[in-house]
Amino acid sequence: MQRGKYLRSVMLIVVAFIFANLVLYFSRPEGVLLYWTIFVVPMVVAAMTYDVHGAVIIGLASVGAIAWWIYQLMPGFEEVHIAVGSLHHIVEISLGSSVFLGMGIILGFLARKHKRQQAILERLSIHDRLTGLYNYSYFLDRIEEERKRAERYEKSLSFAVFDIDHFKQFNDTFGHEKGNLVLKKVARTIKKNVRATDIVARYGGEEFVVLLPQAGKEEAVLVAERVRQSVEKLEFEGDREQPIVKRTISGGVATYPSDSKDSSGLIVKADEALYEAKESGRNKICIAQ
Ligand code: GH3
Ligand code: MG
Ligand code: MG
Repeated sequence: MQRGKYLRSVMLIVVAFIFANLVLYFSRPEGVLLYWTIFVVPMVVAAMTYDVHGAVIIGLASVGAIAWWIYQLMPGFEEVHIAVGSLHHIVEISLGSSVFLGMGIILGFLARKHKRQQAILERLSIHDRLTGLYNYSYFLDRIEEERKRAERYEKSLSFAVFDIDHFKQFNDTFGHEKGNLVLKKVARTIKKNVRATDIVARYGGEEFVVLLPQAGKEEAVLVAERVRQSVEKLEFEGDREQPIVKRTISGGVATYPSDSKDSSGLIVKADEALYEAKESGRNKICIAQ
């Protein structure tokens, strides 16, 4: 979790906990037990932030606080000790502790389940199912974000687009399923040849893009060339007649700010370079003019 988020949630739990105790403090002594439910607020926040642990800790702290208020506010409670009068409170507190503990565990589990579902949904919404790379819409968000960052810090940002050569012919000859295996393998190869901080996405059918933050044109061309050569060396599964099939890719590279100052312009420039690579024979990387 980010530091700011972490601090905000700790503060929220503390504030909710103090609030719950203030409500108890200002309520009449005999009303104390009626307000137990107010401690659900910090418990929910703790469960959302820290799962079962957080909810149980706040639950137990709430029991402690309530026991202390009862001890402070109940007239003559100190003198009665374990006499019949205080037994009632001891039973009440033990029962309350169990309820709070149970509630903490349940809330924590619910929060954990919710977080997992959120993570799955998020994963599905930004990734391409076939290749596992980021999808087009996530890429569009990121290119704009990275362009702004590059502008703010006066850095370069490079963008490379790759397209598999004669892929339709591969599909027509070996079938769509085998074609899908090619897409997966090419995706893995691109990922392997770039930095972990570079953003690799499936742009469309058999097109892939890589965003290279802080990379100038020379560096981006080196990376794109390395990707092209790696794909060239790959062997794909064909059919019985031709068990091993080779395939190549073509690519285009454009760089912010020299080629374009906006992200859509950058995409257009790289696309033009890719077109040039296709036109001039394929299996090559061209640079935006
Ligand atoms: P070029 O060298 O000019 O790029 O030729 P190409 O055949 O690769 O280009 P074209 O645009 O004519 O064909 C792209 C093909 O990509 C057509 C389509 O069948 C295939 N394709 C697109 N998405 C998928 C996919 O998800 N799976 C598979 N197997 N094929 C796909
Ligand atoms: Mg294409
Ligand atoms: Mg193609």
